[in-house]
Amino acid sequence: MGMVKTVIYDGAEVAGQKAVAVGGGRILALGPGELLRRAFPEADLRQVAGRFSPAFLDGHLHLLAYGRALGELDLAGLELGAAREALLAARAARAGWLRGRGASTGLLAGLAADQDILRRLAPLRVWAHDLHTLLSDPESVRALGLDRHVPPGGAVERGQDGLPTGLLRETAALPLAKAADEDEGGAEAAVERAIRDLWRRGIVGAVTFETPEGVKAVASATGRLPFRAYVYQTADSIGEGTVPHRLGRRAALVGAKFFLDGTLGSRTAWLQAPYADAPGLGLPRHDPDELRAPMQSLARRGFSLAVHAIGDAAAEAALGLLAPLPPADAPHRIEHLQLVPEGFSRRLRAADVTASIQPCHLDQDLEDARRAWADRLGRAYPYHALCDAGVRIALGSDAPVESPSPALNLKWALGADAVGGGARHRLDVGEALRGYREGVYGSVGRRCEDIAPGAPADLALYRQGPEHGEEPLLVLSEGQEVFRAAEAYVEQ
Ligand SMILES: [Zn+2]
Repeated sequence: MGMVKTVIYDGAEVAGQKAVAVGGGRILALGPGELLRRAFPEADLRQVAGRFSPAFLDGHLHLLAYGRALGELDLAGLELGAAREALLAARAARAGWLRGRGASTGLLAGLAADQDILRRLAPLRVWAHDLHTLLSDPESVRALGLDRHVPPGGAVERGQDGLPTGLLRETAALPLAKAADEDEGGAEAAVERAIRDLWRRGIVGAVTFETPEGVKAVASATGRLPFRAYVYQTADSIGEGTVPHRLGRRAALVGAKFFLDGTLGSRTAWLQAPYADAPGLGLPRHDPDELRAPMQSLARRGFSLAVHAIGDAAAEAALGLLAPLPPADAPHRIEHLQLVPEGFSRRLRAADVTASIQPCHLDQDLEDARRAWADRLGRAYPYHALCDAGVRIALGSDAPVESPSPALNLKWALGADAVGGGARHRLDVGEALRGYREGVYGSVGRRCEDIAPGAPADLALYRQGPEHGEEPLLVLSEGQEVFRAAEAYVEQ
């Protein structure tokens, strides 16, 4: 008998068969259970029911930020009174930074209106759900000098008395977020927390966007845990001599990330025409011309470039920057693409740029989109139009901005016609699942293997499937059971 234990899962549908033998991290054989038991007489036998699907890779998330968010107060969906109570209770329970997330921008404005409470909650750091607006307390804002110096590309809101209210937008939020997060420490433990949560959702790898602290933590955590990571690092933190490279056993630094704008919820997405419900064109984070030289330098070194672009002006600028660059092993990509110019899909296809999309953002954004882009909804969330034009779409969750649940993402991919701009939004089940699998693999320059002998044993067992809103019963990563629900095994 070899060192590696073989396990036969019998009774669930798996690529047209009724049983699968797994060993050494790979699929060894498929077939009727009886046949596999004869072929592998020493194997452990597990009786299961339902259907095996390939496990997912998430096409865009933030492992370190997600792991940290799992340890924070979740304010999503709370009214002002309930949020105040929850924050005050959390304040009473512990010293040090009080961290929250998931708040609507309206809730943050409501909390900021009562400066006395903010003082009682100090030191405070509450993120809006989109991670582009942050609420702190007046003392912490002063301590970091943000009342005297506003970083370029950011905004510090002031009250009628001229003093900061505690609301910080875009780059102005970053020094405060950094101070609060560094105080917590434990980056590798946070990444491990994120990985364990992702496993139970049927996700065994991800394209993850990280600061240097996150890159290090991801490299060490994935050395121990069977989870694959394709890492994009914030571009301005990549040293001049650095080239793409492996980060230990299961991670690789493949890309560099740039920002061109903010978000719809904060009305900082950069638009070609003013918002229908707010003044202005949003808040470009950079002059695109200033990004040209650093982008060329990184692309020449082999980095795949990812550009955050939510509004149509940002999308146009992103494509203008990416199209002339030399190709990398992993194609260049644009993140989010929530509003695009007319005829954009064909040009994206011609430039072989990946559309990295997160249908689950509609969970928070749908009402905003209908108000802010009422006059241009046909160009918003154009998932089906991208697919039709042959663009490589890669589905992701943007966790911690949204839940990483594939069921939630698939619900919105299949329900995107709720945007209301016509037939250009909704994906069918086949398109959505291909975008989640082949699309994400293709986005990092890899082929997605079918469930077949020799392929990695990265499998998730469902009653029917994630497209039916289900979470998995059992998840294998490299053949290891990384998650098993109580009811996963059937009594024999
Ligand atoms: Zn993101």
